[in-house]
Amino acid sequence: MKIGCPTEIKPQEFRVGMTPNAAQEAVARGHTVLIQAGAGVGAGFEDADYTAVGARIVETAQEVFAAADMIVKVKEPQAGERKMLREGQILFTYLHLAPDPDQTHDLLASGATCIAYETVTDRQGGLPLLAPMSEVAGRLAPQVGAWTLQKANGGRGVLMGGVPGVSPARVVVIGGGVVGTHAARIAAGMGADVTVLDRSLPRMRYLDDVFGGVFKTSYASAGNTIELARAADMIIGAVLVPGAAAPKLISKAQLSELKPGAALVDVAIDQGGCFETSKATTHQNPIYDVDGIMHYCVANMPGAVARTSTIALSNATMPFMLALADKGWKKACAEDPHLLAGLNVHAGKLTYAAVGDALGLDV
Ligand code: NAD
Repeated sequence: MKIGCPTEIKPQEFRVGMTPNAAQEAVARGHTVLIQAGAGVGAGFEDADYTAVGARIVETAQEVFAAADMIVKVKEPQAGERKMLREGQILFTYLHLAPDPDQTHDLLASGATCIAYETVTDRQGGLPLLAPMSEVAGRLAPQVGAWTLQKANGGRGVLMGGVPGVSPARVVVIGGGVVGTHAARIAAGMGADVTVLDRSLPRMRYLDDVFGGVFKTSYASAGNTIELARAADMIIGAVLVPGAAAPKLISKAQLSELKPGAALVDVAIDQGGCFETSKATTHQNPIYDVDGIMHYCVANMPGAVARTSTIALSNATMPFMLALADKGWKKACAEDPHLLAGLNVHAGKLTYAAVGDALGLDV
C-alpha cells in the first residue's frame, strides 16, 4: 500500500502523523511511505531521517493525497485537504466530527473511508489513541501551573517543592482519570503536597492502592472540593463526563475564597472547562487573571511538546496503521472490533451513531 503523510496545516500544529520509526516499520513490510517535505520539522524530524529508513519525500500535499491509498495525519483534514480526498482512499487521523458538520459533509462527499483516532477502543474499555494525549496534557499541567505560580506571571510566588523550612505548594487535582493521575504523579514528583478528587470510588481505590503515600485522594463532593480549593496554591481541572460538557466545579463567586494568585489549570477546557471563569487560551497567550486568580486554559496542550506528543501518538497509532496497510481496511476492521469502532465515515455513509445523533444525520 502507498501510505501518505502530509504536513499538518492547522494553525499552531507542530505534530506529524508518522515518525521515522513508524515509516521504517511500514517500509519493512513492503509498503511505500510518502512524506511531504518538511512534515516532521515541527516535531524535530528532518526529511533525511525519513529517507534514511526508506521513505520517499514529495514536495506538496497535492502529491501526497494524489498518490496515497491511505493518509495518516494528526488533526482533522482542513477544508482544502478534504477536497483532495477521494473515493476508496483511507483517512486515519483525529476527526472529532460531532461538533463539526462542515467537515462531516465534506468527508461524506469525498467517498473516502475515514477512521477516527478518538473512537478506536481497547479491551479495557479505554480509548487508546486519546490516552497518549491525556498523558501528555496531564504531565504538562503541573509544569505550566508551576510557571503560572511564579510572581512575574501573576502567580502567588510559591515554589512547587518548597525548600527546607518552607512548606511545598498545595496542589488539588479534580478528576483522577488519565490526565489527573499523570498530573498528580508529576506534581508529587516536583515535591508538592497533592490531593486528587474524584467521584468514582473504584477509581479512588485504585489510586490509593497504586499511589498511596505519593498523593492523597478525597471524594469530590462540593464541600470537599471548595474546602481543599481554599487551601490550594494550584488547582488542576481534569474531569470528564463522557458525551457531556464538563461540569462547573468552581464558580466565579468562589474565586474570592481562593488564595490570591492561585493557579487554575483547566485541562478540561476542550470540553468547555470545569471552572466557571475558564475560557480557551492559546500557547501564545496562555494565562489570564480573573479576580486575582491566574487561569491557564490552553485547549491543545500537547502541541507545546510536539516532539514528545508526536512520538507518543505514533507509538499508539502504529499497530493500527500497519494492520490497515497490511490487510486493507475491510479485513483489518473485520478482524479487530476496536479498530472497527474507529470507522466514522465510509463511501458516503456515516457509520458512527454518536456523530449521527449529534448532527441529526442517518447512520
Ligand atoms: P478520564 O475519563 O480518564 O478521567 C476523567 C475522570 O473525571 C474520571 O476518573 C471521572 O470519574 C472523573 N469525574 C467525572 N466527573 C467528576 C466530578 N464532578 N468531580 C470529580 N471527578 C469527576 O478522562 P481524561 O483522559 O483524564 O481527560 C480529562 C479531561 O482532559 C477531558 O475533558 C479531556 O478532553 C481533557 N484533555 C484536554 C487536553 C488539552 O490539551 N487541554 C488534552 C487531553 C485531554
